[in-house]
Amino acid sequence: MERRKRIALYGGTFDPVHVGHLAIAQKLLELFALDEVLFIPAHVAPHKRGAAVTPPLHRYAMLALATQGQQALRISTVELDAPERPYTVETLARLQTEAGRQSRLFFVMGADSWAEIATWREWERVLLMTDHIVVTRPGYDLSAQHVTHAIGQRLVDVRDQERDEIASRLEESAGEKIYVTDAVLMDVSATAIRKSIGAGKDDEWPALVSEPVADYIRKYRLYRNKYETESNG
Ligand code: ATP
Repeated sequence: MERRKRIALYGGTFDPVHVGHLAIAQKLLELFALDEVLFIPAHVAPHKRGAAVTPPLHRYAMLALATQGQQALRISTVELDAPERPYTVETLARLQTEAGRQSRLFFVMGADSWAEIATWREWERVLLMTDHIVVTRPGYDLSAQHVTHAIGQRLVDVRDQERDEIASRLEESAGEKIYVTDAVLMDVSATAIRKSIGAGKDDEWPALVSEPVADYIRKYRLYRNKYETESNG
C-alpha cells in the first residue's frame, strides 16, 4: 500500500513566530518523516480572547518570512479566512475533508496547550479526529491526569527515541494516537519576546526570531507599545 502523505498541522497565534516554533517544525519533519508542516495562524486563539493580538496580516507576513525558501513549511489561511473564529474541532474537520484519505494528519501542540486541552470545545473529539504530537516545553508538566482514562491510553511516549524507532511505532499504530516528544526543549515564548521588545532590549530579542522577522518587527515597529500592554499570553 502506498504510504500516506504525512502532514503536521501546527496551530497557534504566532505573535510573533519564533525560533522555538521553527525548531519544532524542523525537528518534527525529521523525526516523524513528515512531508509537510502546515502552520495555521489563528484569528485570535479562542482561549486567548481578551488579550490584544497583533493584526492577522502582520502575523501571516512574519510566518511567510520565517518559512521562505522551505518547501515543506507552509501556511494555511483557513482560520484567518473564516468569517467567524473557528474552533480547532471545526478547523480539523475542514482540513480532514480537504486532505482526504490519502493523507495522515498530525495535530501539533506544546505542553501548555496539552495542559489545558480539556477546556477546548469538543476536546475529546479533537483528540480522536487525527493523530497528535505533544511537544514538551520547559516548565510545563506533562501529566495525563486531566484527560479521561481512554484518552490517556492513547499516549505514546517517544521521548528519547530516534527517527527509526518512531517510524516503526507510526507504522504499527492502529487508530489515532497522541505522541509525546521532547525533541525540542527551548525556553522561548512569544510573550517573552513581546516583553523584551516592549522593554527595548534590542540586544536580546532579535536572537529569538529569524532575521527577516526581526527586520520586519523593526520596520513596522511592532510590539513597541500598544500590543504589549495587554498581551500576557
Ligand atoms: P504566547 O507566549 O503568546 O502564548 P507561544 O510562544 O506559546 O505564544 P503560540 O503561537 O501560542 O506561541 O504557540 C503555538 C503552539 O506552539 C502552541 O501549541 C504552543 O504550546 C507551542 N509552542 C510555542 N513555543 C513552544 C516551545 N518553546 N516549546 C514547545 N512548544 C511551544
